[in-house]
This record gives sequence, C-alpha cells and structure tokens, in this order.
Amino acid sequence: MRSIHTDEIIKNIKEMCIEANYNLSKDMESAILQAPNKEESPIGKQILDQLKENINIAREEQIPICQDTGMAIVFIKIGQDVHIDGINLEDAINEGVRQGYREGYLRKSVVKDPLIRENTNDNTPAIIHYEIIPGDHIEITVAPKGFGSENMSRVYMLKPADGIEGVKAAVLETVQLAGPNACPPMVVGVGIGGSFEKCTYLAKKALTRNLEERSPIEYVKDLEEELLIKINKQGIGPAGLGGRVTALGVNVETYPTHIAGLPVAINICCHVNRHANRVI
Ligand code: SF4
Repeated sequence: MRSIHTDEIIKNIKEMCIEANYNLSKDMESAILQAPNKEESPIGKQILDQLKENINIAREEQIPICQDTGMAIVFIKIGQDVHIDGINLEDAINEGVRQGYREGYLRKSVVKDPLIRENTNDNTPAIIHYEIIPGDHIEITVAPKGFGSENMSRVYMLKPADGIEGVKAAVLETVQLAGPNACPPMVVGVGIGGSFEKCTYLAKKALTRNLEERSPIEYVKDLEEELLIKINKQGIGPAGLGGRVTALGVNVETYPTHIAGLPVAINICCHVNRHANRVI
C-alpha cells in the first residue's frame, strides 16, 4: 500500500490545467503543423497558418491557446494499492482546478445551476471520471473542454440492424451539422456500444487518445481511417470556410453492449483538443 497525499494531487491538477491550456500535446501540434500541406483551399491554408502561429504565441508567451479555456474534465485512474491521505479526493481535484484556473488566468466558464446560471467564479466543479486500476499509482488526465464543439456532439441509439453503415452515417451527419460551429479542424471522438451513458464516456475518452495511435482492433482501425477520409471530403474545411482539412483525426472506442441496441456517441472537439497527462 502506497500513500499519496492530496496536496500532491492538488498541485499536479493545478499545473495540468495551466499546461493543457497553454500547450497542445505533441500529437495535436504535429497534426496542425502538417495540416497546411494537405489543404488545397487558399483560405483554408491561411487559417491553418494562423492556427500554427496562435499555438506558437501561446507556448512562447505562456497564455491560453483559446479564450474558451473550457470546463475541466478530469479522468483519474486510482491504483487499488493506493491510500489517499489528506482531504476528500473530490474536494482535492476541485481545489486543483480552482488554483489552476486562478493562477493561470484562465476564463471561468462554469455556472452553478444549469438554469439559474450564476458563475461559480473558479471554474469548479470539474467533471470527474474515476477508474480503479491495479497498482500503487494514480494516473490523471486533465482535458479542458470548450463548449463550441461540445454543443455539436450527439448520441444515437441505433438498432443492431443499422450496423457499421449506421454508425458511419451517424458520425458523418454529426460532423456535417457541426460545420463551422465546432471551430474546425476538429477531432472526432466516437464511442460505440455500452449503454446510453457509457457510449458518451467512451467518446469523450477517445478524444484523449494520441492522434498518431490507431485502434488495436482491426475493423475499428479501418473505420477510423475511412471516417477521416469521408469527413475530409465533406468540404467544411478550416474554420468552416471550405477546404479539405475538416478533421485532424477520428478516434473510436468500443465496448460490449445489449443484444437489442447499438448506442453511438460522437463527441466533437475543436482544433484546441487539450489534454495533459501525469502519473503520480
Ligand atoms: S470550440 Fe474550441 S476553438 Fe472554439 S471557442 Fe471553444 S475552445 Fe476555442
């Protein structure tokens, strides 16, 4: 049994909120750097060059990549041989978010009640996904999520007979409807299977996977590649002004499901697909 104090969790989450908002991960940055070479439209190329410049300015000057610094989505995997000392874990995660958004001068974008809509002024609470894993360590991923693209995400409760063609149609329809509102070029996270809530979790988790890694399941890998090609033929393009580079990647996660259903969730992310990951 290893003890980890919540002070360490708070410190790491604080740093990760800032890190994710100031610096894109290497795979995301590399996808954006290469994108102008794939773009035929002059205006599309111009937008992509501006995105490159924006990423460089954010990193060099240590300022947020986008004014929407997102709602903090925290994936936390806790080794079953870890004992957490200090305060309540959920309070610690939110304290890390609070400190990160304050010290990093990140926009506070969370309202306390979805209808009364009073800002909490510290970007808490975070959305927290817990997972218990073997071992004596904790793995944390902080993924601040902008809502321009979140709002364009969808869930489809397909019939089993809809099959893989139904899944493709659902993804392509969602991207088409998202259009410029999702701040393309986008990253498309897809969750297939599970239940109504599980497929949305899978779609969100898919966005945190390295864009250079394809699914280890052969047919899913083929699906990811086919969907990326088809999405980029839709003509939406960078900033929705037309062109080839509508998406930088499609990541698909799957899970067993019920004999009577085929749930599919599509979580759209913009070109600021942020995530920081640490193991403590
Ligand atoms: S969707 Fe993304 S790029 Fe657009 S405003 Fe929100 S965080 Fe920024």
